[in-house]
Amino acid sequence: MNTLFVRVALPRPVKDTFHYEVPARFAGEVTRGSIVHVPFGQRTMTGVVVEIVPSSPVPARSIVALSDGPPLSQELVDLALWTASYYQSPGGLLLRLALPPSGPSGKGPKFTLTEPGRQALAEGESSHIKILEALKRGPRTTGLLTDRFDSAQLEAAVSDGLIAPASPPPPTDNIPSGNYSRKESAVGSLTHFQEEALALISGAVTENRFEVTLLKGVTGSGKTEVYLRAARHTLSQGRRVLLLVPEISLTPLLVSRLQGVAAGEVATLHSGMSITERTSSWEAVRKGQARVVVGVRSGVFAPIPDLGLIIVDEEHDPSFRQEDTPNYNARDVAVKRGQLEKVPVVLGSATPSFESWYNASEGKYQLALLPDRVTPSADPDLILVDMSDPDQTDFDHPSLSRTLQNELTGVVERGEQAMLFLNRRGLAPFLLCSECRHTVPCPNCSVTLTVHANHKAVCHYCGHRQAPPDQCPDCGSNRLGPVGTGTQGVEKALKELFPGTTVDRLDRDALGKRGALESIYRRMDSGETTILVGTQMLAKGHDFPGVTLAGILNAEQALDLPDFRSAERTFQIITQVAGRAGRGERPGRVVIQTFTPDHYAITTALAGDHEAFYGAEIESRKMLGYPPFGRLGRIILDGANEVKVTSAALTLAGQLPVRKDSRVLGPAPAPLVKIRNRYRWHILILSKNHRELVTILRAAREVNVPGVRITTRVDPIQLL
Ligand code: ADP
Ligand code: ZN
Ligand code: ZN
Repeated sequence: MNTLFVRVALPRPVKDTFHYEVPARFAGEVTRGSIVHVPFGQRTMTGVVVEIVPSSPVPARSIVALSDGPPLSQELVDLALWTASYYQSPGGLLLRLALPPSGPSGKGPKFTLTEPGRQALAEGESSHIKILEALKRGPRTTGLLTDRFDSAQLEAAVSDGLIAPASPPPPTDNIPSGNYSRKESAVGSLTHFQEEALALISGAVTENRFEVTLLKGVTGSGKTEVYLRAARHTLSQGRRVLLLVPEISLTPLLVSRLQGVAAGEVATLHSGMSITERTSSWEAVRKGQARVVVGVRSGVFAPIPDLGLIIVDEEHDPSFRQEDTPNYNARDVAVKRGQLEKVPVVLGSATPSFESWYNASEGKYQLALLPDRVTPSADPDLILVDMSDPDQTDFDHPSLSRTLQNELTGVVERGEQAMLFLNRRGLAPFLLCSECRHTVPCPNCSVTLTVHANHKAVCHYCGHRQAPPDQCPDCGSNRLGPVGTGTQGVEKALKELFPGTTVDRLDRDALGKRGALESIYRRMDSGETTILVGTQMLAKGHDFPGVTLAGILNAEQALDLPDFRSAERTFQIITQVAGRAGRGERPGRVVIQTFTPDHYAITTALAGDHEAFYGAEIESRKMLGYPPFGRLGRIILDGANEVKVTSAALTLAGQLPVRKDSRVLGPAPAPLVKIRNRYRWHILILSKNHRELVTILRAAREVNVPGVRITTRVDPIQLL
């Protein structure tokens, strides 16, 4: 039989694959999708076979070992390769997301003694005795082994059958609900609108038909109940369900409700789990033991056999977008996966992204509307506060308007609960010198240092920390004071205004310790907490029936960002937060503080008029050719030398192979012009033609300027 070769995608930041020879002992077993361990330099790496080829253009080394269990499905390999090509991302890094989690990168799979290996060790007679001894006390990672042995020695021990990749530990019940769960009352019959939505989805599940359904409904309208029933229907067809959420840790209730549908067969995949937990989850997924898989964005590549339904909850959430390499948008990849696997996809949101809404209005997606809350609570009262009105100002607590303070007093007196939302951490966003009006910047970045509790000034981009300076670095005066407010500042102000009231805070700084989130939720659930202050995390998913007041402290914050999606974000945040209040029996009130009460994103959100918002948005996007009326690409140039970066950007912009379907915006300094001592410029490309866009971005990446790094992004969300 002729020797065969394979092309293997390895978890390396390159677009190329690598050739390996298939040793005779694996000849019948290796196929496209096989998970293989191969030598790479001095190490062994795990990769995926993407093609079987008759010959290799270069001298090829041999596959060391074949992972047991089935190969990845053809659809999943296709999905990763499509994603690689669409986003111009390294395919091997995308395929790694379908593989069992590995330790810190480069450590490789674990090796263990086989039965013959154990015998040979006992007999003490083997040319590989040193390797066998190294494994005497249990499996070792390849990284540890290759520190002592070269990979040819390891390959030889594997091919002699003495050592083998370790099987992961047996799957355990990986359900994290023990810490936090809440009894749900059983739901009787569905509402008319829920029935209609479910019928659309279930029909496509039964017929194995690719079809995207946009499920739009306010918080509390019963979307999750539709997911649960559609999931149950899918399971009854003998198929499995993938549910993607922006952040699992914020949705313990959703996970525990899913357990009602498939008790003991729900697996979660996210980075908050230990390697062991993730490995056992992954095994349960691949073997099909998990019939419902809940994941964050990388879960879109989970190797689920017989997939029958994909649900993306909170589909508008920007965290589905992975900005770092390998970059992709999990929401959009989920739709592609549905198409490749011929299964329906549900995109659910109270505030669909403009793109999804547009696809629905063009008839590309089916639209299912849940217009009302299930439990007919009155719509919350929305109160708009113009922060430039002097009557609203409390000079001692400028972040909390008089109106909001009065509302909070009512909540405290009636023993109810309130949630305040502010998308900024820390005590104060910057230190300002009242002599010369200078702020204190991070020494490494073009942003101001944020003042935190415990006398710290912190950079939110590079993590730099220092004591706040006593003197202005510019004029030397000592009149340096904090300006503006972050979540810690609001917490402090509330404690001053409402002594004896329990105020809690939910933001990234508060979640340092394991279990911190559960205890914040528990204190809120039990009614111990009266006022909860938080960042956007608060606006996601979780609901507390005791909350009768929600406040948005600076509704226009997103509007200050140089981003064509800023109006959309503002509209979404107001609508989402408004949905947080009054979910129990008592009516809710929402206070929205803003300096720009007339902006259309704010007025339409206040009126609850989605059509008016999307209508206004469509005009501006169409005029400028922004998505979905064109594709957006971004070229980022960064380097330590500002002059070099600037001149590289200017030169590059003039060299791009731009044709009639594309338009170049820039070059311009990026809004964050310096991060970690690297200067940044960017160029935006708007194109009507994806292929042309890819050609332009590829040309940009091929330019080589010493000292300047050039990276590109397709469909970026982050434009800073
Ligand atoms: P959403 O996901 O849109 O926020 P949920 O599905 O969580 O909405 O529903 C909100 C609440 O209403 C939940 O407590 C749920 O159990 C309940 N619920 C949903 N559908 C019904 C129904 N048809 N009848 C009674 N209660 C329902
Ligand atoms: Zn910094
Ligand atoms: Zn000064």
